Amino acid sequence: MPTDDVVLCTDLDRTVIPNGDQPESPQARVLLRRFAARPESTLVYVSGRDEGLLRDAIRDHDLPVPDFAIGDVGTTIYRVQGDDWQPMEAWSREIAPDWQGMEGPDLAELLRGVEGLRLQEAEKQNDFKLSYYGPEDPRPEELLSEVRRRLQDNGVRANLIWSIDEQARCGLLDVLPASANKRHAIEFLMRERGFGDRQTVFSGDSGNDLEVLVSSLQAVLVRNAPPEVREEAERRVAESGEADRLYVARGGFLGMNGNYAAGVLEGLAHYLPHTRAWLESDSKA
Ligand SMILES: [Mg+2]
Repeated sequence: MPTDDVVLCTDLDRTVIPNGDQPESPQARVLLRRFAARPESTLVYVSGRDEGLLRDAIRDHDLPVPDFAIGDVGTTIYRVQGDDWQPMEAWSREIAPDWQGMEGPDLAELLRGVEGLRLQEAEKQNDFKLSYYGPEDPRPEELLSEVRRRLQDNGVRANLIWSIDEQARCGLLDVLPASANKRHAIEFLMRERGFGDRQTVFSGDSGNDLEVLVSSLQAVLVRNAPPEVREEAERRVAESGEADRLYVARGGFLGMNGNYAAGVLEGLAHYLPHTRAWLESDSKA
C-alpha cells in the first residue's frame, strides 16, 4: 500500500465513544471524522458490539462509517461499503473448528450452574460468542478456572475475555473460539488486505483490548483507560520487550485532553508523524 496510507483499528466504547466518566475534548470526534474522510485512511472498528449495536453507535455518536468492522469481540469481520455490511466468510471458516462443531447454546449447557455467572440477553449472543454477566471483580480467578475446566473437559478450545463495565458496575465474560480474538482478527485482516505493520495502529481502553495492546502491533491506550489496565499493559510490554509498541496518551496534543478520540489521534501522530500535519491543518479549519 502507498507509504502515506494509514490503517486505524480502534475499539469503540470508551475509546472513541465518550461513554466513560471522563470528559471529552470538543474537537476530538470532529478531527476523527476528518481523518476518516481522507483518501489515505482506512478505518476499522474492533468492538464487542454486534452489527446492530455497531450501527447504533455510529448513528448515535456521529462516528465515521468504517471500511471494515470486527464485531462481537473478534468473532465476525464485516466489509462495510456504505450501508452494506458483508461478513467475511473466510474468517468464520478460520475460527469454527475451535468449538468442535458446537455453537453458543451447546457451550451454555456445559457452563450451566457456574456460580456468579448470568447469561446476557439473546441479542448479545451469536454462533461463536457466548456472553455472561458476572461479579464486579477485576480478577475472579476461581470462577474463570471453573469455566476453563468445564470447557477443556469437553475438548473446547476457548478464549475467555473478562472485563468490567464501569457504568453498570458488573463483570462481563465473553467465551469465544480460541483463535477468534481481536488480535487474530486484526492480523487476519492485515494479511487479507495487505496492510503493513508500520502503517497500522490499534487503539483501546480496557481488558478486552489487552491482548492487542501488548502485542507487536503499534498500539495506543487512551488516557481515560482504567489504571489497572494501564499498569498491566505497561508491565506486560516491559516483560516482552514491546514497550516501544505501546503508547499511553497523556493529553496536550492539539490542546486536547487525551481521552477517547483525542488519545487515539495523539497516538496515531506518535507512530505516524505525517498524520500530525493532517490533524493540525484540520484543527485550524
Ligand atoms: Mg472499550
